[in-house]
Amino acid sequence: MINVTKTFLPLIEEYNKQVQRAWDNEWLTNRGELVLELEERLKKYLSISNIIMTNNGTVPLQIALKILGNKGEIITTPFSYVATTAAIVWENCTPVFVDIHPEYLTIDETKIEAAITDKTTAILATHVFGNPCNVVAIEAIAKKHNLKVIYDAAHCFEVKYNGKSIFDYGDVSTCSFHATKLFHTGEGGAMFSKNLDLQHQLFYSHNFGHNGPLAFHGLGINGKMSELQAAMGLAVLPYMNKIINERKKVVDFYNDTLNFSKLQGLKIRENTQWNYSYYPVIFDSEEQLLKVQKALNENQIFPRRYFYPSLNTIEYTIGMSMPISESIASRILCLPLYVGLSVVDMTRIVTLINKNLC
Ligand SMILES: *Cc1c(COP(=O)(O)O)cnc(C)c1O
Repeated sequence: MINVTKTFLPLIEEYNKQVQRAWDNEWLTNRGELVLELEERLKKYLSISNIIMTNNGTVPLQIALKILGNKGEIITTPFSYVATTAAIVWENCTPVFVDIHPEYLTIDETKIEAAITDKTTAILATHVFGNPCNVVAIEAIAKKHNLKVIYDAAHCFEVKYNGKSIFDYGDVSTCSFHATKLFHTGEGGAMFSKNLDLQHQLFYSHNFGHNGPLAFHGLGINGKMSELQAAMGLAVLPYMNKIINERKKVVDFYNDTLNFSKLQGLKIRENTQWNYSYYPVIFDSEEQLLKVQKALNENQIFPRRYFYPSLNTIEYTIGMSMPISESIASRILCLPLYVGLSVVDMTRIVTLINKNLC
């Protein structure tokens, strides 16, 4: 069976070696040696000045929204994983959708200003499939209207924009280290901010608000990463070069062989160092997509409809019409992309797709 992705697993001896350290320390959580070491390694590896690792990639969105969203209206994208919208609603904020760019698939920055009201507190946009939003334009809009910017950078491990880590953009940026993501700790995630005061708030918020054992800075929740999660991260990190190189080969193969006269690929924003995280293709119609999906499924190949449905159509959001996002969501399919996908399998996938395009 071929799925859309396959979790990269290091040699179990390498994982055990890291887990042994937690046993030796008899210390499993509360920012132990492994969490601290992984944070330091990631700072160097990603060339970033700070990181707070978390238990998943959704809690950091909630924490950022709690601090910066403050129950207001949040301008957001309808084309993302459901966690982006769910976090907004969960934090008693109101998602106000702005349609997406038809080729980059990120929020259309030219439509943001029209959606701003006196209740707007923040913009939460997703660098979808690792493709950066127009961060320069968004920053200018936020400055002009005194709004905060949060980026859901769940897909963005190792992405650089204009020569620096994409995690450096926005007031807060978040990432997911879920098992299906490029770099993973089984479950896990991180949040980033260059603002020292904000970093401090994010930090205490992810650890119950603690200021030492007996005092509190303020309200907090439990967003801590455990030593066992960090052990996986320490075992996976040395493979990242290999992971990206192998995925690039798959992406190059698809780019060279799919019939793009009948398909639309993802347009990566200029000045981006991309990470080969997903391989979406957009069909001319949903009918066409369903036909190809059926043919692939019959051959035990299971691509995924990332992201469907468009988030503005989910029942707990106010039904705003987002024609571009709804259209793309109904026609987009992510193809299998992982380390170890063989040329034979890639050839089968491409042959089945091209044969079923009409
Ligand atoms: C995976 C993902 C998340 C959530 O991350 P978890 O680690 O699974 O909580 C959030 N946003 C986007 C866009 C994602 O793809």
